Amino acid sequence: MVTLGSGDKDILLTAHYDAVFLKDGKMAEGVVDNAASVVGVIQAAKVLQKTKLKHRLRVILFDQEELGLLGARAYAAGPDGGRIAAVINFDVNAFGATPFFLEPKDPALSVAVRQACHAAKTDCVSFPVYPPSDNLAFRARGIPETSFSIMGQKDVHQLWLFMNAGKDSGLAEGFIPGVLAQIHTDKDNISAVDPKTVELAGRLAVELVKAADAAK
Ligand SMILES: [Zn+2]
Repeated sequence: MVTLGSGDKDILLTAHYDAVFLKDGKMAEGVVDNAASVVGVIQAAKVLQKTKLKHRLRVILFDQEELGLLGARAYAAGPDGGRIAAVINFDVNAFGATPFFLEPKDPALSVAVRQACHAAKTDCVSFPVYPPSDNLAFRARGIPETSFSIMGQKDVHQLWLFMNAGKDSGLAEGFIPGVLAQIHTDKDNISAVDPKTVELAGRLAVELVKAADAAK
């Protein structure tokens, strides 16, 4: 965890660094899920270190997301859980150029997300339902939050349908989106990573923190 600047309330920029154990007992390399996001968030922190913000910024790499968001839940329940203005989480940002995010419940953060995507010159896709990640530990407490991912455009739209359209998705029966067949397997390794995607995640994280900081 790194704390930057000062203020009465915190913006959290987060990514989990843990990976799962595979059936053969070895640990997954966990590059797509979620080392690539960790690198993106650290790159953003380097830029944000030199940015004047109204809020205190905490860049947090959480452990035990895969075991049930345990690190994030512990933080949310801890002494600084009551001073969080917004949480911006990153999970699965390794390849492709189409960002997508969990639609924030908080209207101000929802606007800030659009402003950040515009500033980063990228089109982001809103997901009403999005794969579970550490941000849900904060959503459960009514704290404004979102989580961002990047994948290829086709993969993003297939995942959107898979998660949000139910029986009427139009996807073939038994269809599994590519990324869900890749993470938590030995296919989640460094060969899957495009450095340009990690760089985009970092730029997006900078803009998201700046927009959330200006919002409230
Ligand atoms: Zn993950």
